[in-house]
Amino acid sequence: NPRVGVLALQGDVREHVALLEHLGAEVLRVRRPEEFALVDGLVIPGGESTVIDKLSRLFELAQPIRDAIGNGMPVLGTCAGLIMLADTIVDAIDGQQTFGGLDVVVRRNAFGRQTESFEVDLDIPELGADPVHTTFIRGPVVEHVGTDAAALAALDDGRIVAVEQGNLLGISFHPELSGEPRFHQRLLDRVAARH
Ligand code: GLN
Repeated sequence: NPRVGVLALQGDVREHVALLEHLGAEVLRVRRPEEFALVDGLVIPGGESTVIDKLSRLFELAQPIRDAIGNGMPVLGTCAGLIMLADTIVDAIDGQQTFGGLDVVVRRNAFGRQTESFEVDLDIPELGADPVHTTFIRGPVVEHVGTDAAALAALDDGRIVAVEQGNLLGISFHPELSGEPRFHQRLLDRVAARH
């Protein structure tokens, strides 16, 4: 059976594990390279991208994750996870690095502070007719989508908040908090298709 990992260095790991298990997936929390070697797909949770970056290098997970992305592993990144998947951060601090893979430029904290969090319904035809209920908490915005990536969703003002490239899916918001299962299901479908 395919196994999906949740990168469990920092962030809202538990909510992703719960949603994936609810969808019937076999889930592994990934903190070490030995654990990452056992998974066929990965969720990178929201949290703080600078911390996820530092810890992933410290625990020697960064390069294995980059290699797996290069080999086509399906990955879903939410919020800080989208930042980790972006090739470029416009406002990176302290030599912050990413795993990369998504040919996009992101800006961190694009929607202001925690207290300016908001929820909104988005139309994302690729996920079906029902609107997607989204929760934004200090999320990034995609400022530029390169030729290899595609925008999946935008706010009414045109700002892009979901992108896809091959088996990589990056979103600015938190479906694991609003109980929206379709992004995780899309990841699981891709994992199953490769298995
Ligand atoms: N602002 C955070 C970062 O830069 C992301 C916020 C979140 O994941 N909820 O990593």
